[in-house]
Amino acid sequence: MVEIVLEGEKERIDAFLKALRDEKPPLARLDNVQVDFSESETGLSDFKIEASSQTRSKSGSVIPPDIAICDDCLSELRSRTDRRHGYFFITCTNCGPRFTTIITLPYDRPNTTMSQFPMCADCRTEYTNPMDRRFHAQTTACAMCGPKVALLDNKGSPVNTTDPIKEAGRLLNEGNVLAIKGNGGFHLASSTLQDGPIERLRRSKERRNKPFAVMARSLESTLTFAKIRSAERNMLESYIRPIVLLQKTEPFSLSSLISPGLDSVGVMLPYTGMHWLIFESAEDPAIIMTSANAPNEPIITENESAVKNLGDIADYFLVHDREIAQRADDSVIRCLGEIPTPIRRSRGYAPAPIILSKATRTAVLALGAELNVTACMVLENKAYLTQHIGDTETVETSRFLEDATTHLAKLIGFSPERVSCDLHPKFTTTKIAERIAKERDIPISRIQHHHAHAGSLMAEHGVDDIVAIVCDGFGLGYDGEAWGGEILVCHEDEVRRAAHLEKQPLLGGDLATRYPARMVAGILRDEPSIGDWLKSNYSKLPHGEEEAAILLQQLSKGDFIWTSSCGRVLDSIAAILGICFERTYEGEPAMKLESSSRGGTDRLSVEPKMEGEVIRTTNLVRRIYDQREKIARADLAFSAHSYLARALADAAVGIAEQEDIMTVGFSGGVALNEIISMMIRDAISDAGLRFVSNVAVPPGDGGVSFGQAYLASLQ
Ligand SMILES: [Zn+2]
Ligand SMILES: [Zn+2]
Repeated sequence: MVEIVLEGEKERIDAFLKALRDEKPPLARLDNVQVDFSESETGLSDFKIEASSQTRSKSGSVIPPDIAICDDCLSELRSRTDRRHGYFFITCTNCGPRFTTIITLPYDRPNTTMSQFPMCADCRTEYTNPMDRRFHAQTTACAMCGPKVALLDNKGSPVNTTDPIKEAGRLLNEGNVLAIKGNGGFHLASSTLQDGPIERLRRSKERRNKPFAVMARSLESTLTFAKIRSAERNMLESYIRPIVLLQKTEPFSLSSLISPGLDSVGVMLPYTGMHWLIFESAEDPAIIMTSANAPNEPIITENESAVKNLGDIADYFLVHDREIAQRADDSVIRCLGEIPTPIRRSRGYAPAPIILSKATRTAVLALGAELNVTACMVLENKAYLTQHIGDTETVETSRFLEDATTHLAKLIGFSPERVSCDLHPKFTTTKIAERIAKERDIPISRIQHHHAHAGSLMAEHGVDDIVAIVCDGFGLGYDGEAWGGEILVCHEDEVRRAAHLEKQPLLGGDLATRYPARMVAGILRDEPSIGDWLKSNYSKLPHGEEEAAILLQQLSKGDFIWTSSCGRVLDSIAAILGICFERTYEGEPAMKLESSSRGGTDRLSVEPKMEGEVIRTTNLVRRIYDQREKIARADLAFSAHSYLARALADAAVGIAEQEDIMTVGFSGGVALNEIISMMIRDAISDAGLRFVSNVAVPPGDGGVSFGQAYLASLQ
């Protein structure tokens, strides 16, 4: 909150208030302006900014997210006559890291990781001059007084060079892998034109096929390898500077190892002075910039830890001596049509609150699910999400979740009156929630996974009634089974499962998620030729022929775990079409299936089949199986998307009419599939209903905590 005291004539004060709204700086946001007039005169004569008050408003402070380098700083960086020419940590009031530097509030320099860099006389003069762009810029610094950069070899010893950043760019050209310390953590960087360093980046198991994001030199150089639509361009150039998924150009001019099997590539533009300086000597149109972490651990923030954990992958380390108070991965966006949709909401977003259309009654802390976790706190009309935490399967990640949550709660002065988590008893997040509830003696709300996704739509769009289509890979249902293709009818915090995709066998449980051929065998268990199919594809199973034989035995016994997951149906089709037989990262088969359907048309036109509450999928899988050698792969892949979209939309429209509900929404990880999303959107709109999707939080599990918190606040 900012308090402004003005003294003068009424007209001039009104003019000031108008200017406050109309001429505010690019990053300023007015949530609420409250004006009190008084007759008393105190004789104010000049402009002054007082020190921030130590007491804070109860409604929660607004902590700024990190902001990409602004145009003014960029031109100073490049100007030979400017005193910050070539200084990597150039920032001003309009740009620079924020959240990642803040140790405690109020947001003043002594409370940030910049406190260890006392300002020089020149910086101090700018900082105290109300007419200067760096007036009260808490991160301001220059080469004289600010953070310094260094280049280390893979043992952590300094490399002798006068210009570490220039040398780093040159080393990238030579095919080296570099670990680069940024504002919110380390990146691993390499050339995008040479296969050698990318193969080395892929050495670790977790990175076998997972797409790497790239940082492009500029918008123009991006156009040499990807297509950019206008909404994507706006996101690329925004102060958030997220990674934006773009469609590759054909042929793709960068290494095919960057995002194998996908028709998209994640691209971001430089967002710090250091990035721009690297491109002064790096020659590629883009460089790989992927979060640096030990397997299944959070992004690395400390120099020593980087050398220890990355020494066998990185040849050199480009580091600086400013500590990172909070880690933050890059955010990721996909535009569905013209609608930017977050895949990962982190740097540039966190921890700015999402404003709710209705104030909530209870302060709730929600811990999310298991994968792509964020925590969320709702306080009155604001929802604060932590930065992206990751998959909470390791001690390191769950510790990060607890630290980030404690830190954010402290910053906003939050104390939970209720805690919320998933229905799944074994999730780490559930255990943390149970512990907090016990320690603080507060109630706990266990929200079903897909209900939480639906809740995220309700909270974002301020609706009390919704028919929500929620499709993803897995969430525990009320019946103890694996859900993931649900149509829910929601009224405030009440929910009813109105329809779902046909239950299919998960042959071997989690193994069926990893090896989609098991899904095919399960879905087509009544197909006489499925044994032959399995035998002809046994090389795609980790234990070959023997495993195929065991699967056939299991099929004949018929004792299965069932799932209504939409993701698993897409996976099975990816396997039938020979697109993907092993899932090495989350969503891999489905993402490759979507990529393979580019340019295809719906040549199957399978009629949506609904029996009671069940939307059939076996009919679709069987048709694709039958036609797999007769119709082009792109057409079959597209037909699968088309069937699922039409079947889900038809069912949702029918339920909405029956229940007299005007809003239909689509959430869950599958909502990031552009083909299915756009087809559902069109079908809902054509039926005269209002369609909503997630735009503030990810439709995937990164948005689950937000839905949990909102629904729990209604209880
Ligand atoms: Zn700036
Ligand atoms: Zn200075």
